[in-house]
Amino acid sequence: MASIRELHTQLIKKERSAVEITQEALDRIQALEPQLHSFLCITAEKALQQAQEVDAKIASGEEIGLLAGIPIGIKDNMCTKGILTTCASRILENFVPPYESTVTQKLAEAGAVMVGKTNLDEFAMGGSTETSAYQITTNPWDLSRVPGGSSGGSAAAVAAEECVVALGSDTGGSIRQPASFCGIVGLKPTYGLVSRYGLVAFASSLDQIGPFARTVEDAAILLNAIAGYDPKDSTSLKVDIPDYTASLKADLKSGRKLKIGVIKETFGEGLDPVVEQAVTKAFDQLKNLGAEIHFISCPRFRYGLPSYYVIAPSEASANLARYDGVKYGYRAPEADNLLSMYTRTRAAGFGAEVKRRIMIGTYTLSAGYYDAYYLKAQKVRTLIKQDFEKAFEEVDVLACPTAPTTAYKVGEKTTDPLSMYLVDLMTIPVNLAGLPGISVPCGFDDKGLPIGLQLIGQVLREDQLFQVAHAYEQSTTWHLRKPELLS
Ligand code: GLN
Repeated sequence: MASIRELHTQLIKKERSAVEITQEALDRIQALEPQLHSFLCITAEKALQQAQEVDAKIASGEEIGLLAGIPIGIKDNMCTKGILTTCASRILENFVPPYESTVTQKLAEAGAVMVGKTNLDEFAMGGSTETSAYQITTNPWDLSRVPGGSSGGSAAAVAAEECVVALGSDTGGSIRQPASFCGIVGLKPTYGLVSRYGLVAFASSLDQIGPFARTVEDAAILLNAIAGYDPKDSTSLKVDIPDYTASLKADLKSGRKLKIGVIKETFGEGLDPVVEQAVTKAFDQLKNLGAEIHFISCPRFRYGLPSYYVIAPSEASANLARYDGVKYGYRAPEADNLLSMYTRTRAAGFGAEVKRRIMIGTYTLSAGYYDAYYLKAQKVRTLIKQDFEKAFEEVDVLACPTAPTTAYKVGEKTTDPLSMYLVDLMTIPVNLAGLPGISVPCGFDDKGLPIGLQLIGQVLREDQLFQVAHAYEQSTTWHLRKPELLS
């Protein structure tokens, strides 16, 4: 499948119709889903209807935006009015939202064609998409491996060209890590840049919606469409949104020399040598493109993981209290009193990982433990933020691997949650500090599995991330490689 701009040109030149493009995506979905399982629901009828509307506009000579007629996948934790939104949880197995999330509303207004809702770890808790209550999504580069998570369905769908772009959500790495595992681009925007209205809450101070795409330009186009102030989200930022595609240039040579800081602490124990080699080469390439490479220390970076696993479960335990079988979602049958209805509903409705988080969060927020755990974790969060602030006094953009390894085998880490948590070591601090981060393909290991380079920006400097990522991407061929599945 072509890029957004190429498809747009085909549409306005009337070489292809939006219905044809949508049908191509739907055919691909039909062909690959038995192996990939990236979608929880496919909205073919609605998609074709949306595509017809775009075609009608083109026929009547109306101007269309870049996203009009472009097939897109939406992670199934974003509310879509009249369409099942399950969060990959049994507890929401029958939940049809009566309202639309701001991001999907904006995309519909831009004429984008939603082809379906994508699979995720239950309530976005996980890093492999294996905690979904419904199905396990596989990695298009190797069907015996995980696509990463929690937005694994969206990442796999884009990598396998079941859609052109997709939305994911990132609380601790859930866009960047699956983008890295699936060989595509994924961006977590600055906290507050994209509205969370209608995003089912996991950890509200960390959650952020962002784009998946096969190229940096496509990701920038998608961010253009979803970013912006929303009065329905109290944490939404009132800022002017630039045109993110304006910062895309072939190299980094014009203007002041761009300083990129490599985070020292991300190298060493636990980092796969193949990943280290690939990102080190990427740093050389960025230097060739005109950037200045510095080595920077973020000494408290490594405390990100432990503080995240106090803060995120704490917030989750509060957010998930609403699933009690009363107002909506699954309700356990045959309970003889209210308390037993609650407990049976939650026992049957939530999976093991979600229960683990609720229990940890309830514990860390309890009287007597709050100061020792939650408050301490919040203080560590501030220290991590300060490390970033200090680093950004010296450099413009920070760089490190997105994940310490490439995609692992399905089932490899399911019995050891800690080993799964460790994979997010490099992405989590970015959420704790509310900064933007992007993952861009930077190589393949000897098994042909993709490797991702993470670039971290200052608050609201998505433009710089796109600039660096695009210049890098255009000077390499990683993004042109396709999984064998597509040949
Ligand atoms: N893997 C991390 C977790 O399990 C991050 C998830 C996310 O970003 N949604 O919490």
